[in-house]
Amino acid sequence: MSVKTETASLLSKLGVPKKAYTKGTMAAHSPVTGEQVASLPAATSAGAAAAVERADAAFRKWRMVPAPRRGELVRLFGEELRAAKADLGRLVSIEAGKIPSEGQGEVQEMIDICDFAVGLSRQLYGLTIATERPGHRMMETWHPLGVVGVITAFNFPVAVWSWNTALALVCGNTVVWKPSEKTSLTALACQALLEKAAARMGDVPDGICTVLTGDRAVGEVLVDHPKVALVSATGSTRMGRDVGPRLAKRFARAILELGGNNGGIVCPSADLDMALRAIAFGAMGTAGQRCTTLRRLFVHESVYDRLVPRLKKAYESVSVGNPLDSGALVGPLIDAQAYEGMQKALKAAKAAGGKITGGARVKVGSDKAYYVEPALVEMPRQEGPVLEETFAPILYVMKYADFDGALAAHNAVGAGLSSSIFTLDLQEAERFLSAEGSDCGIANVNIGTSGAEIGGAFGGEKETGGGRESGSDAWKAYMRRATNTINYSKALPLAQGVSFDID
Ligand code: NAD
Repeated sequence: MSVKTETASLLSKLGVPKKAYTKGTMAAHSPVTGEQVASLPAATSAGAAAAVERADAAFRKWRMVPAPRRGELVRLFGEELRAAKADLGRLVSIEAGKIPSEGQGEVQEMIDICDFAVGLSRQLYGLTIATERPGHRMMETWHPLGVVGVITAFNFPVAVWSWNTALALVCGNTVVWKPSEKTSLTALACQALLEKAAARMGDVPDGICTVLTGDRAVGEVLVDHPKVALVSATGSTRMGRDVGPRLAKRFARAILELGGNNGGIVCPSADLDMALRAIAFGAMGTAGQRCTTLRRLFVHESVYDRLVPRLKKAYESVSVGNPLDSGALVGPLIDAQAYEGMQKALKAAKAAGGKITGGARVKVGSDKAYYVEPALVEMPRQEGPVLEETFAPILYVMKYADFDGALAAHNAVGAGLSSSIFTLDLQEAERFLSAEGSDCGIANVNIGTSGAEIGGAFGGEKETGGGRESGSDAWKAYMRRATNTINYSKALPLAQGVSFDID
């Protein structure tokens, strides 16, 4: 079966109406073969604004539904996802080029966040706080926020939306989603599954979740629309630099999940077998197209010659190929632009004295598909392309002599998403996690930089945008907090002992 035929068959099985992927001006491609697999309609700005109005009307009803009942919708959606895991995971592989276990893993993340959100729907609690005034009670309550605009990147085409949507829904919000123009088919499938869950539940307001396929102009409508209370935008730091100030200008809430330039430190005491596997997965997995991909590695000089040759061997022998039928570990880059970006970075690294292993294009099927050997680049120092995220499988490896220097170099980049240390030395591990250690939103010990679980809050600092999604108390960003003080006495004492007596 051709990829195009299989795509149509999966979309139909997942409940997407045929006209949604056969008629329209937007071409959908699979990076696996580079071929066009579908045509989609592109939303107009007016259509996007109308979707926001519908979502706002739905919000006014949905916010009055008790949270545990809202959780029921997410529970049913989780059931739909369980039933559709194989098909949706396969569609993720076709559209984003992920190997099967990663395509399925992405859907598993969706199921996990649904489970989390269902529990959360009974735990949207506020504090009761001691008041200084007699006969008074002070407490905080959490209320739904409004319409949440979700803008997503191509590399996690379904999971990131579900992290936002599962929380937003139980928090009483409605959602308008602008997926990446490179991965809109999986978005249509998610929408169809959510609609199935809503139909099973029965009393869900129309317009509670909408998907708008289109380019950045559609995303911009969400960013600028006064009825979108929160925009959760995932993508490049370039995108965040545009979106952040626009949201700030109208005092809207923002969750920005932007680029990463993730680093790891391998210390003298590290378990090198463990480090090797973690580094290989972190740097080469998903063909280097995870926001948490390991991109910079600092290796202590005492273990450099034991680790780096083994790493190079892993790079030379890793299987690159069609993720749909070859059992390969490394699939394609998303498109030609990604390939060109990778070659440009490698050229700059070479000019700065880098010694490159791999990096060449690999012919897999059609010329329109872009497969590459992952590249390991031994750099004399951290400079030039090492300071920036290139969204491709390039790992820059640098030797270090002293721990403080490695830590300083680790933190000396713009992004602040994920980080790792490999050590069996308690002092090094704890320092890495301490206030003077890694400056990232994710800091791991003896685990790679990628592959986070949904239970923890996910996000990063500095140019990664500062947003947090998913687990822990990330839900608070999707609600507004009110502090309530109730006077049940017969007097009116003022706070701080202020007196203001009128006759
Ligand atoms: P991208 O920035 O090109 O696009 C992301 C999304 O933003 C797309 O839907 C796009 O249409 C939209 N967009 C772009 N400019 C916009 C604007 N001015 N206004 C409104 N919408 C706009 O990113 P990409 O190439 O799809 O994804 C790769 C990038 O995403 C990498 O930098 C990666 O690190 C990052 N990413 C970050 C996280 C995270 O959680 N921190 C997760 C996944 C990906």
